[in-house]
Amino acid sequence: MMRMSKSPHVEDLIPFYALGGLEASEAERVAAHLETCPACRHLADEALAIVALLPYAAPPVTPSPETRSRLMARIQRRRTGDEKRTTFALRFPSPVVNAWRALAPTLAGLGLALAVILAGLNISLLTQINQLRQQNQNLSERLQQQQQYLALITAQQTQARELKGTDLAPGGAGRIYFDPAQGSGLLVVYGLEALSPNETYQFWMIGANGPESAGLFRVQANGQGELLINWHQAFQNYQAVGVSREPAGGSPQPSRIVLLGQL
Ligand SMILES: [Zn+2]
Repeated sequence: MMRMSKSPHVEDLIPFYALGGLEASEAERVAAHLETCPACRHLADEALAIVALLPYAAPPVTPSPETRSRLMARIQRRRTGDEKRTTFALRFPSPVVNAWRALAPTLAGLGLALAVILAGLNISLLTQINQLRQQNQNLSERLQQQQQYLALITAQQTQARELKGTDLAPGGAGRIYFDPAQGSGLLVVYGLEALSPNETYQFWMIGANGPESAGLFRVQANGQGELLINWHQAFQNYQAVGVSREPAGGSPQPSRIVLLGQL
C-alpha cells in the first residue's frame, strides 16, 4: 500500500503513523522527517496522544475468534518480518511515546481494529453525506419550482378558472392559473385517484382544432398534483382545458376525461 505525500511534509501520513499502519519504509521516512521538522513533530505528538486515548474512547469491539486470530497472525507476521516498525518511536523523547511503546503490542492490534472501525465510520458518513446532498438538491429544485408557481399565481395579468370532475371522477376538482396572452400556466388538481405506474394523467388544451396534448402528470397519494404548462400558443386561443386518464406515456386523443373547465 503506497501513500504518496504531495508536500515535503508528512502530515497526511501522520494518522497512519500514529495508528502503526505504515509500511517500514514509510515509517522510516516519517520518522526521519519528524527529526528535522518541529511542525510535523508537533502533529505527530498530538496524533500519538489521541491514539493513546482511543482504546478508552472507542466502542468495545469483539471480533469473532476467526477474525481475531487472522488479525493477530497478520500483526505477528508484520512485526517479526519488520523489527524497525516498533523502533521508530525510540527517537521521540515524549512520555506519550514511551507509554505507546509499553502498550505497543496491545495497541498494534487495537490500531488495526481501529482502522477497520474508522474505515466503517468513514463509509457510513460518506453515505450519509451523499444522501443529504441528494436531499438538498431535491429541496432546492422543489423550492425553485414553488417560486415559479408563486410568480405565476401572483402576476397581475394572471387569471384563474375552475375545472370540475366528470362522472368518471366525481370527487375531482382543479384550478388553472394562466396568462391569457401567453402559453404559461399552472394546473393544480385535487381529489383525483392516485394511479399505478402504468397509468398517467394527461392535460389537454381544447380549441378549434380539438384537444391538444399539453403535458403528463401524476398525483400524490392525497389526490393532489400540479402541472406547470409552457404551451407554444397563448391561452386566449383556446376555449377549454381538460384532464384525462391514460395509459403510461399518454395518448394522441383523450380517452377517459376526468376534469373539464371553460377558459
Ligand atoms: Zn514537516
